[in-house]
Amino acid sequence: MFDYLIVGAGFAGSVLAERLAVSAGKKVLLIDRRNHIGGNAYDHYNDDGLLVHKYGPHIFHTNSHHVFEYLSRFTEWRPYEHRVRASVDGLLLPIPINLDTINELYGLSLTSFELKEFFASVAEPCEHVRTSEDVVISKIGRELYEKFFKGYTKKQWDLDPSELDASVIARVPTRTNRDDRYFTDTYQAMPLHGYTRMFENMLDHPNIKIMLNTDYQDIDGIIPYREMIYSGPVDEFFGFRYGKLPYRSLEFKHETVNKEVHQSAPVINYPNEHPYTRVTEFKYLTGQEHSKSAIVYEYPRAEGDPYYPVPRPENSELYQKYKALAEATANVHFVGRLATYKYYNMDQVTAQALALFDKLRAQRVIGEGEMETVVANGNGNGNGKHSSNGNGHRRKDGSA
Ligand SMILES: Cc1cc2nc3c(=O)[nH]c(=O)nc-3n(C[C@H](O)[C@H](O)[C@H](O)COP(=O)(O)OP(=O)(O)OC[C@H]3O[C@@H](n4cnc5c(N)ncnc54)[C@H](O)[C@@H]3O)c2cc1C
Repeated sequence: MFDYLIVGAGFAGSVLAERLAVSAGKKVLLIDRRNHIGGNAYDHYNDDGLLVHKYGPHIFHTNSHHVFEYLSRFTEWRPYEHRVRASVDGLLLPIPINLDTINELYGLSLTSFELKEFFASVAEPCEHVRTSEDVVISKIGRELYEKFFKGYTKKQWDLDPSELDASVIARVPTRTNRDDRYFTDTYQAMPLHGYTRMFENMLDHPNIKIMLNTDYQDIDGIIPYREMIYSGPVDEFFGFRYGKLPYRSLEFKHETVNKEVHQSAPVINYPNEHPYTRVTEFKYLTGQEHSKSAIVYEYPRAEGDPYYPVPRPENSELYQKYKALAEATANVHFVGRLATYKYYNMDQVTAQALALFDKLRAQRVIGEGEMETVVANGNGNGNGKHSSNGNGHRRKDGSA
């Protein structure tokens, strides 16, 4: 008898498996219908020995010390600040739009102050900012919107930005300084030996059994368990009772090129040309040295694996119906991006999973007298290295 059946071995499922096994002494069966752990963050060495992210580039960034400290128990980090260029008018320009983007695009030499005035002069006032189009045009005007955003958004979502929630583009800032980093979070780093190795360390515990190539429906009713943690699609769990929750998918075309460097930035976005949205060169992310280089093209698709929930009001309403069913389902806890129909970054899903663990503990679902066994990394150097008992976990008394 397992205490927990955990469906999905991505961040949501793996964090909970680790916490329940290590910190609460629970017996956990972790299953995934894919043939690997790590969910969408899975990485592996390709036939040429290059480390690639199977489901597109995953860059870790967070402002949460708690999340960073927690994951640092399972990996060392490689400092990495992500940078993206957009191919516009034959130039490769920094994105998010900053001072250099505008100066290079228009052959100007504006100062930060002058750029603010420039944006103010081209911005089109909008009384009620409702759509993604409104967000951009009210900040930087129609021309920049058309050069940088309109085509990319159309390709990505197969919807015009005027049909998409303001929240989609609100994620992309515009800067008046020369900061060309894609993210500004306090912690920005990549797992030194990759995500999969980090997951392996996380799940290496005698209380955790892993079954791959297994859909939970294949074993439901056959393998006994007390509670379920479910990180798969919530509509699928309920047999699509109210209809399908819409997702946008991607097709990844991986390639190895026979040269050391393929492009001048980790990611190049193509808002206006080509059917793909962007090209990533993995060596920038992984720091790997190799005579060849691995790249991936992303082609947005209507069908395929569910990647991006489509943020439109009618979809939120549909999700609310499934959420009500989920809340009324005893002994099943829904967690992660598919089970809560929300685009979450990896750190947000980690935080959500840690919060669920705390909730289960507070509700005493986990049981009394079970104590925290993993102590915080107290060395304060933030590199996440600590001595351990060999499997990355500390013993019950907290010693290594
Ligand atoms: C292209 C792309 C790029 C991204 N880039 C970044 C980035 O740079 N930085 C960042 O922080 N985040 C990024 N993300 C988001 C990141 O992928 C998610 O935050 C993270 O994967 C969520 O983890 P999860 O455990 O909720 O879901 P998942 O990783 O999807 O894991 C869910 C798992 O459940 C399994 N499953 C589902 N149903 C069943 C079933 N019935 N039975 C058995 N198993 C099942 C699936 O096979 C899957 O492995 C990106 C996402 C995409 C799509």
